[in-house]
Amino acid sequence: MPTHIPSVDFTTWMTLSYPEIVLEICKIFIDPTEIPHDKLREIILSQLQSDLVATKRLSDDCSVLELFHGSTLAFKDLAMSCTARFLDYFLQKRQRHLNIIVSTSGDTGAAAIQAIRGSPHMDVFVMYPLGRVTEIQELQMTTMAATAENVHLFGLTGTSDDGDEVMKALFADKEFAERNDLSNVNSINWSRILIQIAPYFYAYFQSGAKPGQVVEIAVPTGAAGNLIGGCIARAMGLPVRLVACTNDNDVIHQMIQTGVLMTGSVKQTLASAMDIQMPYNIERILHVLSNGDTALSKEFANAVDGGKALRLGDTLHTKVKETFHSHTSSNAGIKQTIKTVFEQHQYVVCPHTATALHYYSANQSNSRKSAACVCIATASPDKFTEVLDEAGIKNTGAAKSLLNELRVSPQKVLRLENRDEWVAVLRKSIEDHRKLKSRMI
Ligand SMILES: *Cc1c(COP(=O)(O)O)cnc(C)c1O
Repeated sequence: MPTHIPSVDFTTWMTLSYPEIVLEICKIFIDPTEIPHDKLREIILSQLQSDLVATKRLSDDCSVLELFHGSTLAFKDLAMSCTARFLDYFLQKRQRHLNIIVSTSGDTGAAAIQAIRGSPHMDVFVMYPLGRVTEIQELQMTTMAATAENVHLFGLTGTSDDGDEVMKALFADKEFAERNDLSNVNSINWSRILIQIAPYFYAYFQSGAKPGQVVEIAVPTGAAGNLIGGCIARAMGLPVRLVACTNDNDVIHQMIQTGVLMTGSVKQTLASAMDIQMPYNIERILHVLSNGDTALSKEFANAVDGGKALRLGDTLHTKVKETFHSHTSSNAGIKQTIKTVFEQHQYVVCPHTATALHYYSANQSNSRKSAACVCIATASPDKFTEVLDEAGIKNTGAAKSLLNELRVSPQKVLRLENRDEWVAVLRKSIEDHRKLKSRMI
């Protein structure tokens, strides 16, 4: 985390394109001695185009910010592509190679593979939970893995939190992690968060709010990586109220409402990319809201690792409540929202995006203190046709042709059924590839 989050005068940013806003934010947090500004501009403008984000206005005071126009149709593409190129930049400079470990609940895997495949400086090892991702998500990963020698894909018979545990075990063995040059592009990686600050500024400018007016931004939340981006934008002075929107895995919602953080076991829901009980970026949120209280971070880590409850003090809980509203949607609520939004606006949303719109419709009648509500759309509905079917919406042509194309492409994945072997298999694969790469160098 940055040691200091500066307030910025963003009035001059209002006319900038989305990639230019990303660049301005990166310039604040990346020192030119790390990456010179002209190089930074080159990297960002080569990875991001203005049409990667789009706004859909649903009513006078509600719009949707679509962040899913990247290669794998999820918002994660936006930050992942820049993160991978930042890594390439440093690895090229230092003549080094990294083994990137990724645990995914569905979308991170494909975005990471897309961003890293073909990189001369990285191999990527991806774990995903078998049977808990959609067909398109799985095919995106298996087909890219089949054609890139630096991509290694593992299907686990568990949940995405199990994948996180395996990842944690690999990094916890410091000697192993160092010897094998392990790194990570999950939203543990600060670079992802850095890029994810920009959409909040863009959303604010697009909302039509007058300068100073508060805009409410409803954010579908899993590991809180997107949400911490908003939290930092707010700390930089952007007048937004953030709404953390969860599915039945409502750890964040409960923490905001009660001041107690308590994780449990993962529930499988229709918004599968948010099936997470370990929202690790809460640590960053608490860090920002407590002005960098490191003792609290330690308490947080101990509580989460030990499966114990963490009780926020009154002062911190008050700050949390000033910053966030929260809302939780059941599967029934998600399906109903997809259906209603389609009936009212002929607009199809993915099940994650539906949690934000569910918040909006549930609070529409309340008197609002904000100028407008922007709902963040985190994935294309075309990735979740199974859920759309359940909500009574026919597959779109785009989704069908995407599926047909992927189904006939070569695929590659190692299926791991025996839980006791997961860590060992990953270790061996990483070690073998490192030896192979070092012989090639
Ligand atoms: C990853 C993801 C989320 C959750 O994002 P976090 O940053 O983990 O909170 C929500 N929706 C979709 C479609 C995602 O892929």
